[in-house]
Amino acid sequence: MYYISTRNKGARVTGPQAVVAGLAPDGGLYVPETFPEVGEADMRAMADMSYPERAAFIVGLYLPELKDVLLPSAEKAYGRFEDDPAPVVQVDEDTYFLELWHGPTHAFKDMALTLLPYLLTESKRYLGDKEGTLILVATSGDTGKAALEGFRDVPGTEVTVFYPSDGVSAMQKLQMMTQTGGNVRVAAIRGNFDDAQTAVKNAFASPELSAALKKRGLAFSSANSINWGRLVPQIAYYFSAYLDIVNAGKMKMGDKLNFAVPTGNFGNILAAYYASRMGLPVGRLICASNRNNVLTDFFRGGEYDSRREFYKTMSPSMDILVSSNLERLLFEISGRDDALTAQRMRALKETGTYTVTARERAALSELFWAGYADEETSAEALGNLFEEYGYIADPHTSVAAAVFDGYVSETGDDTPTVIVSTASPYKFARDVLKCLGETVPDDDFKALKKLEDVTALPVPDSLSSLQTAPRRFTAVIDKTEIFDFILSEEKQ
Ligand SMILES: *Cc1c(COP(=O)(O)O)cnc(C)c1O
Repeated sequence: MYYISTRNKGARVTGPQAVVAGLAPDGGLYVPETFPEVGEADMRAMADMSYPERAAFIVGLYLPELKDVLLPSAEKAYGRFEDDPAPVVQVDEDTYFLELWHGPTHAFKDMALTLLPYLLTESKRYLGDKEGTLILVATSGDTGKAALEGFRDVPGTEVTVFYPSDGVSAMQKLQMMTQTGGNVRVAAIRGNFDDAQTAVKNAFASPELSAALKKRGLAFSSANSINWGRLVPQIAYYFSAYLDIVNAGKMKMGDKLNFAVPTGNFGNILAAYYASRMGLPVGRLICASNRNNVLTDFFRGGEYDSRREFYKTMSPSMDILVSSNLERLLFEISGRDDALTAQRMRALKETGTYTVTARERAALSELFWAGYADEETSAEALGNLFEEYGYIADPHTSVAAAVFDGYVSETGDDTPTVIVSTASPYKFARDVLKCLGETVPDDDFKALKKLEDVTALPVPDSLSSLQTAPRRFTAVIDKTEIFDFILSEEKQ
């Protein structure tokens, strides 16, 4: 199994090399040379497996070099979750929620970031690579904490996280400020997520910075979904959800299933696309955006145009104007044209926009449907879910639920649909209370308690205990200062 860059098909690497590198040297993203097929016999075998076994099976198709260590790694990674790591909850005859937030940091990023440290460490071992790894992360809120938790005190790794100073929820910020571990550092960056992401991409691309780190025995890697090792564990839960629904007798093997995905950087929904390329019977992939609806316009009109106002919303992990992983989809729909993909990414960087052909757009709309929900519509959907089904969603998941409603009204499609539920409502307790029409306490921890009273869903201990945890990382820096921050060896 080999991987190629979306911007240069000529340079092939193995899976372990792709995981260790994160980003290709030409700035492109690694993609598998071919997609492994999951046939009917595989599906039947997987139907009887536990979640860690399913994950090890899917990841093993892409990283056969690590086959022997994948199951024990997945068991350790998903052993950190409460009970079932990816439960499917049915709310009406044809609508399900796939809850991906039962891990240590209560967002779906844990599905990949609890496993990635094993994939990285084992890839380095396989390659005989003794260099240390500095994981650099730009986060819109949830990736940062999940990366810190996943890599905390993992030998041979260090983690540095940058988050936008006022673009994350109070709980997300506290989770990162209070992070423990001897190999972790966190700073807030003045600006929005795109500023943080661009600054981190520039750090990756800087030869001077790499050289300075090399002297210390460190090489960069990424825990953002540009890293193949981050994406591949995400493919597994789409298979798992499908099989759970079949196992429950609600659907026959081979029937189509839709997925509605609250989307930001396009990693989660891309994993669903890869699952469909591997043979999972997917009907439509519903790409849900918040008011930052650049993807909706792209899927509908064929132009990706990031030159627009940036809005802060109650779904901060989707407040993104440049969705990095779309590059991988562009590569596929262009017929794997690396030169064209590189040209489009250059245009995006230089002018903020690029356009796909009418034919490409038509090909995309066979599988994808895109829509967005503004704050009001999303709040309404959150309230309705609770009222109608007693289901309590976070403000990202409610965007997907609202967009799914729009999809059904527009298309009349009655295919069973899984709405991907990406965070615990407790990460956004104040906004959730507001959407439910409750008065909102000023204090964030009182808000947790109140949400518990209203919904009877227990507050996770790891969130309520933040109230008394020492605030360890309080630095706020300009994006121009991030190279210095990375190089300074000062530990808080
Ligand atoms: C990261 C995140 C998203 C967006 O996922 P992408 O893979 O970036 O598209 C949606 N919801 C939550 C809660 C997230 O943390």
